[in-house]
Amino acid sequence: MEIRDIKQQLTINEVLQHYGLQPDKNHRLLCPFHPDKTPSLQIYPKTNTFCCFSSNCTAGTGDVIQFIQLKENCSKHEALVKATALAGDNAVIASPPPPASKLLLNKVKSRKVGKRITWIKLQYCQKFLVTIRAAFHPLKKQ
Ligand SMILES: [Zn+2]
Repeated sequence: MEIRDIKQQLTINEVLQHYGLQPDKNHRLLCPFHPDKTPSLQIYPKTNTFCCFSSNCTAGTGDVIQFIQLKENCSKHEALVKATALAGDNAVIASPPPPASKLLLNKVKSRKVGKRITWIKLQYCQKFLVTIRAAFHPLKKQ
């Protein structure tokens, strides 16, 4: 999964939820990256980004990957792995359990193969008939 895909599939709210963080109706919450008394972490669901307005905070602005990186205190690579897992969980929930279209495709495929076999058999029978006819034909030249 590419970073772009992860960012498309994983919303900032899902990341917050994963960490048990709940923004208020103004999309603000107590910043988990510095001792915060008034909600100074602003969430932007439209752009999937966050921004801490406190001057005492080093979080600044960032996206879902950076949020995970800050929260886990890990490398960007580890944050990406974590984000992929989170995005993957969402994908599993979002997709329907049995891939109906694939089953249908397999059915069509096997039907096509069946037709092809019948056709080959027919060709073989015809060839066989011609050979037999030729062998037993009274006017066949020796
Ligand atoms: Zn902060």
